[in-house]
Amino acid sequence: MELTGCFSGSKAAQLPAAQHALTCPQKAARCSRRKQPLQTRAIAAPPRPAAPEHAQPSSSSAEDVIADEAKYVLQTYIRPKFVLERGEGVNLWDSEGKQYLDFAAGIAVNSLGHSHPGWLKAVEQQAGQLCHASNLFHTEPQVRLAKLLVENTSWADRCFYSNSGTESVEAVIKFSRKYARIQAGEDAYSPESNAATEIVCFSGAFHGRTMGALSLTAKEQYKTPFQPVMPGSVTARYLDLESARQCIKKGKTAAVIVEPVQGEGGIHMSSQAFLEGLRELCDEAGALLIFDEIQCGLGRTGKLWAHEYFGVQPDMMTLAKPLAGGLPIGAVLLKQKIADVMSPGDHGSTFAGNPLVCAAGEAVMGVLLAPGFLQKVHDNGVALRHGLREKLRSNPHVKEIRGLGLISGIQLDVPAGPVVAAALEAGLIVITAGKGDVVRMVPPLIIEPEHVQQCIDILAKVIPEALAAEMPPVS
Ligand code: PLP
Repeated sequence: MELTGCFSGSKAAQLPAAQHALTCPQKAARCSRRKQPLQTRAIAAPPRPAAPEHAQPSSSSAEDVIADEAKYVLQTYIRPKFVLERGEGVNLWDSEGKQYLDFAAGIAVNSLGHSHPGWLKAVEQQAGQLCHASNLFHTEPQVRLAKLLVENTSWADRCFYSNSGTESVEAVIKFSRKYARIQAGEDAYSPESNAATEIVCFSGAFHGRTMGALSLTAKEQYKTPFQPVMPGSVTARYLDLESARQCIKKGKTAAVIVEPVQGEGGIHMSSQAFLEGLRELCDEAGALLIFDEIQCGLGRTGKLWAHEYFGVQPDMMTLAKPLAGGLPIGAVLLKQKIADVMSPGDHGSTFAGNPLVCAAGEAVMGVLLAPGFLQKVHDNGVALRHGLREKLRSNPHVKEIRGLGLISGIQLDVPAGPVVAAALEAGLIVITAGKGDVVRMVPPLIIEPEHVQQCIDILAKVIPEALAAEMPPVS
């Protein structure tokens, strides 16, 4: 397994900052106040292909759209000052016709890129046939996708659908708590219970923004304004089995949730020893082990499931982001022993698993499972990190380039915002992670070696320029 490559750097420095840390609004707000002119020039992009016939030109100018967004949309994001209009393959175009190489994929969602022909055909066909019927009725795509997902794990027996990552996490919290009640021999519907309720999570984790998932998410600033979040969450240190041992307790811990590769936390890989240790601790305590593969699953690492690298099986696994190729979906895969404690009415959702999203999911799975596809994801990821290491070896601010398959991060000792902004200016979309000090690359899984090279060339040019000025180190 190819995991990391370290560079040592020297003195901390620098930060001019123009930035839209696309996933970190607070930092972006601070950085944008220090905005300075960029010195990067766009690397020559290939000519723009003609828009397909069905593409609608914008009815308003970009300026109008941005002004109306500021007026009518709740301001929980800070966005760059252009309007995306169209996507095709690995490229996006804004309303002024500027082309971008998309190495963010809608935050690890568009794994087939934009307007993938097979996906489009499946969605158009299903939308014309049956889009939504609710979970009160049988529909075929839902069952076909569940079968595909379950049969492509070595351990899961059932699938539960939701609409997003955070909802998948809410579902596993509920399943774990009910499982604990039944294991304790209780009547699950009695208001009195002494069963285990705690969920152990880890430093650096991101599991979502709803009250349960939020309580399992590490960043305090995401939680503080909304306290109290769900009680019963306990945080251990990632990759520290001793810390986990102190938190996982028989009769108290209902489940342990862990990302085999942390995405938002800064692209950190777990290890076989850590996951094996968690498996043992859970088994000893009678707790369930949950892998959150919402960002690292479904081919992102070059294997269908990230945990395949570590040879450890969970009891449940959460999925979402890329599963329906850009349509909202979430899923939980689970073992029969947990399915056995759930009864009709215990949990549900109006939209989840509708025929449209499930047909899209089947199209995505069809591509991921095609012979040789995941090997190519793996190889492109290796080439990306190798190329970046070669070009950035001597940069004192680049501390490490790490990743697995096509989830990669460049660890800086200064804020990554200026790099993200400069890359955008040069026509490359990347995003931040970690404490805002990691440049994250999660491109569509369909990229070709030429896209890898384009990304390397742009970052090799903009990173030294963007980090040339004096900047404070990341705290
Ligand atoms: N879990 C992980 C590992 C994630 O990366 C994310 C989103 O980034 C979530 C959960 C939450 O997913 P969503 O934003 O779809 O609610």
